[in-house]
Amino acid sequence: METIKREVTKLKKTGYGFVKIAKTLSISVKEVRAICKEIDEEKLLNGNCKNCNSKITSVRGKKIKQFCSDRCRWDYWNNKQKAGRY
Ligand SMILES: [Zn+2]
Repeated sequence: METIKREVTKLKKTGYGFVKIAKTLSISVKEVRAICKEIDEEKLLNGNCKNCNSKITSVRGKKIKQFCSDRCRWDYWNNKQKAGRY
């Protein structure tokens, strides 16, 4: 499954459509669509902290995290506020 995901990503980058990807990997268009959806979701779930840029992984079905910790969230908004004052 992971290999197929990688192949789909590669073909998508080349500009292949769902049908062409399906034909190339001999899977159904429905499967390609499902895999693409999964890839997009993973991209959303894997982000970087807006403050310290460390990697964060959000939990599927929950709100996408923007900060790795409360401390970073606090620092970020604090710095933003300070920057706005000058
Ligand atoms: Zn952070």
